[in-house]
Amino acid sequence: MKKEVVLSGIRPTGFLHLGNYFGAMRNYVRMQDEYNCYFFVADLHSLTTHPDTKELRNSVMRVIAENVACGLDPEKVALYVQSTVPEVSELYLYLNMLAYKGELEKTTTFKDKVRLQPDNVNAGLLTYPVLMAADILVHRAVKVPVGKDQEQHLEMTRNFAERFNHRYGEVFPLPQAFNYGTSLAKIMSLDGNGKMSKSENQMSTLYLADDDDLIRKKIMKAKTDSGPTEPNAEKPDYIENLFTLMGLVSSPDVLEKFNADFNNCVIRYGDMKKQLAEDMAKFIHPIREKAAAIQADKNLLDKIIRDGAEKARINTNATIKAVRDAIGVHYI
Ligand code: ATP
Ligand code: MG
Repeated sequence: MKKEVVLSGIRPTGFLHLGNYFGAMRNYVRMQDEYNCYFFVADLHSLTTHPDTKELRNSVMRVIAENVACGLDPEKVALYVQSTVPEVSELYLYLNMLAYKGELEKTTTFKDKVRLQPDNVNAGLLTYPVLMAADILVHRAVKVPVGKDQEQHLEMTRNFAERFNHRYGEVFPLPQAFNYGTSLAKIMSLDGNGKMSKSENQMSTLYLADDDDLIRKKIMKAKTDSGPTEPNAEKPDYIENLFTLMGLVSSPDVLEKFNADFNNCVIRYGDMKKQLAEDMAKFIHPIREKAAAIQADKNLLDKIIRDGAEKARINTNATIKAVRDAIGVHYI
């Protein structure tokens, strides 16, 4: 049977962190055997919010290196940079004719961004959902692993695809959101405010590039309190987060011990954080080393990017041909 097409992208807007790992990349790695996977670094998308491109190239290289270090195999998936596949931009143009100003202005992420960057409300920001639709539809992908915040964009993608099919003829399948059910962990920031993030909460976010000492320092500073006062109490969310992290990187008996201590009101958060810091450092260490080695290997990165573009373009060229035929803009 032909494998289903999965597509997902990540913006090169900063260092990747544990939330990206457990909320996204770990699933990519699981999907690579079961599906026909296209993963891309969304450098064009980042121009809508990060017009300064001094760091862009480095960021793109690091995102690729970190993804490969986390277990993504460029032999199994197409791992590419968005701007190396020009068919995406061409499809974006056609889809823009099917997207209406009113619906774009109503998009939640657009309204958020307008608030965040009132001095740079560019048309790219407005049409961000159209570019995202082009990313997905250019591969005729049916499964898109996204978080809750992206549901609205995916619905818009389906609308654009339906309008295209209706106006010009059936070219696109309608993509659906996808995850492995409960296994999608959301990792909170260590200070208990919001989530770990590339661009916010940086001293309370654990990055895959952090060294052992910085990891220890951040975890030892994580928010705790004076402990539970009655047995089997409910955990406050910042404490729950420490247990979540422990569940992800420590051994089951360690997790069980601290859970029992919590339930018996004898937990010492200092000890728990020390243990978590050591286990976390052990977990991140090999990823960091591997990513650094890949990032230093310019030839390898170059090969990954070239092969990725080549693989992606077999698919995207076929789609663009079908799109041009359907619209009737095929002359040579
Ligand atoms: P930015 O701050 O630039 O928005 P980000 O850290 O939110 O960066 P994204 O590029 O927006 O990262 O998201 C990449 C993927 O990582 C998405 O699939 C998103 O759902 C997931 N993700 C991001 N942060 C977390 C988190 N703290 N916990 C779980 N998953 C996360
Ligand atoms: Mg985000």
